[in-house]
Amino acid sequence: RAKQNGKGGYAFFKPELDAAARRRVSLEEALRIAILRDELSIAIQSQYSPLSQIKGGEVLVRWLNGPDGVPVSPAEFIPVAETSGLIKPLTLLVLSKALAVVTELMDAGILLPLSVNFSTDLFRDVTLIDGVLALVAESGVPPELLVLEITESLFIDTQADVLANMERLSTAGLKFSLDDFGTGYSNLAYLKRMHLSELKIDKSFVDHLPHDDDNRAIVRSILSIARQLRLRVVAEGVETAAQADFLSAHGCDLLQGYLLHKPAPAAEWVSSVKLLKSEKKV
Ligand code: C2E
Ligand code: MG
Ligand code: MG
Ligand code: MG
Repeated sequence: RAKQNGKGGYAFFKPELDAAARRRVSLEEALRIAILRDELSIAIQSQYSPLSQIKGGEVLVRWLNGPDGVPVSPAEFIPVAETSGLIKPLTLLVLSKALAVVTELMDAGILLPLSVNFSTDLFRDVTLIDGVLALVAESGVPPELLVLEITESLFIDTQADVLANMERLSTAGLKFSLDDFGTGYSNLAYLKRMHLSELKIDKSFVDHLPHDDDNRAIVRSILSIARQLRLRVVAEGVETAAQADFLSAHGCDLLQGYLLHKPAPAAEWVSSVKLLKSEKKV
């Protein structure tokens, strides 16, 4: 077909590129409107101690009513938000919803921390940091109950302003967790310098536990380094009892994954936590 067009290979590939570019543009437009209309929501996935107590949860943004009424995965629309300037209002929206959840639980006498994912570029923006601190202060939530999940890409260019912004949040009491640990640029020297409290072992290492020799060694090393640096460790993507047993036996602090809990709409999560509290399981 390319030859029929008389444009060689270029014409053969171009329609696909156009489709991807068109999808991006339409997602960006729809996302802008969805943010304005407050159509994004949050789901929460519980994090458990090895004794099956809920110790907190991860907040995951949801866009259930995307273009044509079809849900869009954050894996697809977060990159669009990041390259279009929408990540800032999106993050503040997610954060305010997360703070409302923590507040509702506090009103029921339950103190549980929530983790919120924060894209790397946000730490270059002083006004975003101001916005975060203002939202936390207005909410009355103890800053310690808010954990910001960041990734190793933040450490590639540690400009002074990035470090200063992280330090402001850390001084205010917010916690930092290093998400997808082991998949990116791992400069161990940064682990202590970056005000981290927690590491999250990436799902790709958890996947082949406990059978794969290499992944066993990697996970044990991560747990050992974390212990020596006094960092808490969360394993993500735990899907089998054998994985949970291995991680618990080697001192992993918290487990997160479909085996224990699938992300649930915020209201549903709050109800289930309150119920567990009444049964003294939180
Ligand atoms: P992440 O932060 O690593 O989040 C974990 C992802 O793994 C979530 O997918 C979660 O639903 C999924 N997951 C949890 N347990 C299991 C399991 O046992 N098996 C499998 N196969 N998957 C599991 P989700 O919600 O689609 O989010 C994907 C990514 O999108 C997140 O990865 C995060 O990088 C990003 N993201 C989500 N919400 C936000 C947000 O509010 N802001 C930013 N900046 N990024 C977000
Ligand atoms: Mg995360
Ligand atoms: Mg993760
Ligand atoms: Mg991940």
